[in-house]
Amino acid sequence: MKSLPAIIDLRSDTVTRPSAGMRQAIAAAPVGDDQFGEDPSINLLQERLADILGTEAALWLPTGTMANQVALKLFTRPGDDVIVNTQSHAIWHETGGSGANAGVQFTELGGVDGFSAEAFIAACKPHEHPMYPPTTLVEVENTHNRLGGLIFPQHQAVAICEAARDRGIATYLDGARLWNVAAASGDSMASLAAPFDLVMVSLSKGLGAPGGSVLAGSKRLIQQAVRFRRMLGGAMRQVGLFAAAGQFALEHNLHRLVDDHANAQRMARRLAQSSLIDLDPVDVHTNIVVFRIRTDSPGSPTAFQVVERATELGVLAFAFDAQTIRAVAHLDVTAEQCEHAAQVFVECAER
Ligand SMILES: *Cc1c(COP(=O)(O)O)cnc(C)c1O
Repeated sequence: MKSLPAIIDLRSDTVTRPSAGMRQAIAAAPVGDDQFGEDPSINLLQERLADILGTEAALWLPTGTMANQVALKLFTRPGDDVIVNTQSHAIWHETGGSGANAGVQFTELGGVDGFSAEAFIAACKPHEHPMYPPTTLVEVENTHNRLGGLIFPQHQAVAICEAARDRGIATYLDGARLWNVAAASGDSMASLAAPFDLVMVSLSKGLGAPGGSVLAGSKRLIQQAVRFRRMLGGAMRQVGLFAAAGQFALEHNLHRLVDDHANAQRMARRLAQSSLIDLDPVDVHTNIVVFRIRTDSPGSPTAFQVVERATELGVLAFAFDAQTIRAVAHLDVTAEQCEHAAQVFVECAER
C-alpha cells in the first residue's frame, strides 16, 4: 500500500502536538490540587511567567478566551464601553462571550497600523455622563491575529496606556502571541507588557503546549482574577501537567519562533508572485500569513474554493471569508513544507 503524503496543516499554530520530550516532562511533573494552591508545577510556572513579564503575579487559565473574559469581568460593569483594535479576537472569535459574560459593548478602532492615542482619546466616552456608556477599558491585541500577525507599534501602545491612565481607564494586552512580537522585534516580554495593567500570553499557540494561557499583573488584580476564573468554570485541579508542558515549551520552543517567521516569509514571497493573490510580504511581520484572492477577474475562485482544492492536495488553511485566507507557520511544519504549501495555494488560485 502506498503511504499517503503527509498533511501540511497551516490552519493555526494551535494544531501542534506535544513532542516526545514534552510528553516525558508532563509525565514527570509533580502535581497537587491547584484549588488549595498545592500544585508545585503550576506555582513554579506562574512565578516564572510573572518574572518574564515583569509583574507581581501571574495566573494560569485553561484558555486565552477565558483569560480575556476574566479581564472584562475585572475592569468593567455591564453597559460599559471597551475600545479594541478592529477585527479583534474579542469581537470575532469568542462566540459573543463579552456580551454574555460581561455585558459590555465594543468600539473598534484602527487598521493595519493599529490605532493611535489620538484616535483612542477621540473615541473615549466620558464617565458619569447621563447618556454615554462609560469607556472603562482599552484592549490591544498584539500580535494581531485576523490582520495577519501584525505587530502593534509599541510607541502607540505606550501613548494609549498613558492617555488611558489619565482618564481612569484600565488597559489590557491580549498578547496570546506576544512571544512572536518579542522574537521579531528583539524587545523583551517585560518591556512589551510594561505599559499595561494586565497582560495575557498563551502557551498553546506557537509555543506548542497542549493548553494554557496566563494572566499577569499586580497581586491585587490576580487575586480578583482567581474568583472570576472559578466563576467561569476554569478552576481546575492537577494542572501541573499543563505547567510542565509550558515549562518545556519555554525551554525548547521559544528560541525557534524566528524559524516560523522565516517560513511565513517564504510562503509570502511565493504567494506574492501570483497575479491572482493580493499580498505584500512586508506586511507579514510574524508567523501568520493572511492573503486575499483577487476576485476582480471573471472565473477566479473564491477563498473557500482555493482552500477546498488545497485540502484535496493535503494542504490545510483557514478561509476567513470569500476573499481571505490565513496560513500559519508553526513548529510542526518545515521550511520545505511551507514552500510547497505556498506553491499549492498559487496553483489552486490559478487553476
Ligand atoms: C488564540 C487567541 C486567543 C484565545 O486563546 P484560546 O486559548 O484559543 O482560547 C485570544 N486572543 C488571540 C489574539 C488569539 O489569537
